[in-house]
Amino acid sequence: MFESPCPVLTEEDIEKAFALLGKSDYEQQHVDCGACGSNTCYNMARKIALGVNIPFNCMVKAMEDAKREHEENLTAREQVALMEKTREADERMRIMLDATPNATILFDPNGNVIDCNSVGIAIL
Ligand code: SF4
Repeated sequence: MFESPCPVLTEEDIEKAFALLGKSDYEQQHVDCGACGSNTCYNMARKIALGVNIPFNCMVKAMEDAKREHEENLTAREQVALMEKTREADERMRIMLDATPNATILFDPNGNVIDCNSVGIAIL
């Protein structure tokens, strides 16, 4: 009996390869731009399933990954900026608290002292 030297791929293999490419629907699986060297996304998925290409070589995936990474970095930068603003606001409040001649004591909703100025310390 003749045995083919080519490995047989199942539809499940192709679906796994499409998943690695981040292509879950018909449109994504039929971009067929050819930038990876395969004429269709399906053929690229076949090559990935066969282990002769890698998802990184899909230009569309690379662009989407870069876009997502950029958005994540943007979010991280926004969080850092927000933390910096909060720190500056805390610093301004500390300066105002220390400058006021009146006792100023801040409580949390449970009645615990969370901050006070030097005049307030004398009262406590
Ligand atoms: S580069 Fe990506 S989108 Fe273009 S044909 Fe290859 S697998 Fe499809």
